[in-house]
Amino acid sequence: MSENCLFCKIGTGAIPSQKIFENEKVFGFVDIHPQAKTHLLFVHKTHTSNINDMSKDSTAIAEVFQAIAEYTKDKDLSTDGFRVVTNLGPNAGQTVFHTHFHVVGGEPLGHFGRR
Ligand code: 5GP
Ligand code: ZN
Repeated sequence: MSENCLFCKIGTGAIPSQKIFENEKVFGFVDIHPQAKTHLLFVHKTHTSNINDMSKDSTAIAEVFQAIAEYTKDKDLSTDGFRVVTNLGPNAGQTVFHTHFHVVGGEPLGHFGRR
């Protein structure tokens, strides 16, 4: 738990969210400004600021991807497909500095690339 971190507070429930997944290590919730029909955020409960910071903890990275697999399994998402995105720093437009993985889908997505 990092003080004044939005996603740490969402993790504890201090700030409300529409949680769609939770286990001991990871939680997932609906993005407040969805960029596609389905737009979820998966977050490890251990605070790190971005994916490079998180790379020190390979177990945590695995736990997030296992959570995504568990959540999407047996849903249309897994058959239709989805995209996982994580932003680091200003060029990528990172706005929340607790590592998070966008899970985007529910409809065909445009090709990923430059604006
Ligand atoms: P980033 O831009 O850092 O990659 O992603 C941050 C994401 O968090 C954005 O897509 C934004 O819409 C979402 N977000 C920011 N504040 C809140 C909030 O209070 N609740 C929820 N559910 N999502 C949020
Ligand atoms: Zn945090």
